[in-house]
Amino acid sequence: MKEKSLTDIFDENYKDIVERIAAAAEKSGRNANDIMLLAATKTVEPYLINYAIEKGIQYIGENRVQEFLSKENDVTKNVHRHFIGHLQTNKVKDIVGKVELIQSVDSLRLANAISKESVKRGIVTDVLLEVNIGREESKSGFMPEEVINAYDEISKLDGICIKGLMTIPPHIDENNKNTEYFSKMYELYIDIRTKKIDNNIKILSMGMSDDFETAIEYGANMVRVGTALFGKRVY
Ligand SMILES: *Cc1c(COP(=O)(O)O)cnc(C)c1O
Repeated sequence: MKEKSLTDIFDENYKDIVERIAAAAEKSGRNANDIMLLAATKTVEPYLINYAIEKGIQYIGENRVQEFLSKENDVTKNVHRHFIGHLQTNKVKDIVGKVELIQSVDSLRLANAISKESVKRGIVTDVLLEVNIGREESKSGFMPEEVINAYDEISKLDGICIKGLMTIPPHIDENNKNTEYFSKMYELYIDIRTKKIDNNIKILSMGMSDDFETAIEYGANMVRVGTALFGKRVY
């Protein structure tokens, strides 16, 4: 029997995920069109990324600066490019102006660097604030109680616009579906939207291969999926 190609695997996975997103959206009384599917493309070859875009993927995200830069010119299709990984301040100049959204602003220092670089270039960079909702030492992001203050401080800066929140919750297992964290994130998101009356706050980015349906049921409108689309990563 002929081995399945990576494009075949993508086709099958993509169809399945689109259906599951639609079902999860419906379950929470929303429309599938309100949920943005971002393909997390780390370790995925540019030809396969281009193929995925051709098939309908509209958002892609890289999490390492080096890998983003090395693939940037080989991903030739028109697509919304996001940065989703930890960004060091000294690499800000490599990313600003090249992506539509930096999802992973995890410190005031980083926000300041993005602001400065953007002002220098005469642009405004859209960002999400990353929240360390599980309070994990291994993860970056603002602690839940720091988010409002971070929002206030970053909102004052030129050249940067906050579009919402992002999180990577703790790893899940059978018994723990992260619902507690997802609902806390949704609360924070709604808090900012209503208390700050900020119409720019539109994106709640949470949910990955193992938990995107739950995340959608708890209010996510952007899910970031890698493995479940492209297959298991081989590092
Ligand atoms: C890799 C990655 C994802 C996707 O993870 P999967 O479990 O492969 O779906 C989502 N978000 C970020 C920030 C990532 O680095």
